[in-house]
Amino acid sequence: MHVPFLDLGQINQSIRPQLDDAYRRVMDSGWYIMGPELEGFEREFAAYSDSKHCIGVGNGLEALHLLLRAYDIGPGDEVIVPGNTFIATWLAVSQCGATPVSVEPDARTHNIDPSLIEAAITPRTRAIMPVHLYGQPADMDPINEIAAKYNLIVIEDAAQAQGARYKGRRVGSLAHAAGTSFYPGKNLGALGDGGAVLTNDDTIANKIRLLRNYGSSIKYSHDFAGYNSRLDELQAAFLREKLKVLDEWNCLRREVAAKYFMLLKESHIELPFIPDYAEPVWHLFVIRSKERDALKDHLEREGILTVVHYPIPPHLQACYSDRNYSSFFVTERLAAEVLSLPMSPCLREEEIQYVVDRVKGFVEKA
Ligand SMILES: *Cc1c(COP(=O)(O)O)cnc(C)c1O
Repeated sequence: MHVPFLDLGQINQSIRPQLDDAYRRVMDSGWYIMGPELEGFEREFAAYSDSKHCIGVGNGLEALHLLLRAYDIGPGDEVIVPGNTFIATWLAVSQCGATPVSVEPDARTHNIDPSLIEAAITPRTRAIMPVHLYGQPADMDPINEIAAKYNLIVIEDAAQAQGARYKGRRVGSLAHAAGTSFYPGKNLGALGDGGAVLTNDDTIANKIRLLRNYGSSIKYSHDFAGYNSRLDELQAAFLREKLKVLDEWNCLRREVAAKYFMLLKESHIELPFIPDYAEPVWHLFVIRSKERDALKDHLEREGILTVVHYPIPPHLQACYSDRNYSSFFVTERLAAEVLSLPMSPCLREEEIQYVVDRVKGFVEKA
């Protein structure tokens, strides 16, 4: 049997008629940037996310970067980020000239450990950027309390968690603002690049609207030195169709996760931990093993594709080698042990069983 890690073609094929219709709407309209599909999607995704404003932008990295710009965060400022995240969280900070300050994760949730944040705050700290990694919401209440105490901005990186809830509330509505990504592999994925900012703050929303469009609100009049970072009509139209099935697909992911839990619970493989406050959406199903690389090779020989999210933490990346970060023990240990099993709303019962049997086979041999 061959089990792909994530078959995007198959997922999108399952709503082919709706996507074909979206394409035709845009094609026939003759209007391809900043039009009615974007407006419609922004309205619908803001409502879905319990946020006042949604502003579509070019991708997830830009969503976070433009937010930092909108809050006037730049050279000399520090932003607290999780040590354990995709590089884009850090790049958003360094691209606006600020310094990413790493905080270790909780080894069980893999998300930023709120109890370690206060020690990382300095007079230069301006913001905290928690990530809802793997579709699991970060523990936002203590993070927001610390931020209030030190007068810091909190920006959620919700790129991996569209639809997840924290204490019953949707991610993207839990802090000052949020950035999210519609990269094709995300839970809400376009057929190309895309991203969005979510916020209840009118001033920030207006600033993002300007920044994404050359700093311009009136054509050929430029208030800020802005960017070209827009969500195009075609992607917005696709996303409107995919938003309609997001909850259903997250539900299917939840069922896949439940099967993995049930079938792997006595296997001595370390399974994901779900805190009481979290309703995750299983962007990834991440297990841990001290023999991770051997397990990955074993599964690949058996036709099962897995991925490591992420093999090299940002503080050890060559692009940050001049910054002399110290070592981060938990982050580095997780990077050596994590393995993401196949996860998709289309994963079939027999594929899950096959994956589980091969994982168990490896554990028993070891
Ligand atoms: C995907 C991702 C991003 C960046 O999104 P892009 O659209 O690929 O730029 C940012 N943060 C996290 C945690 C992500 O997973």
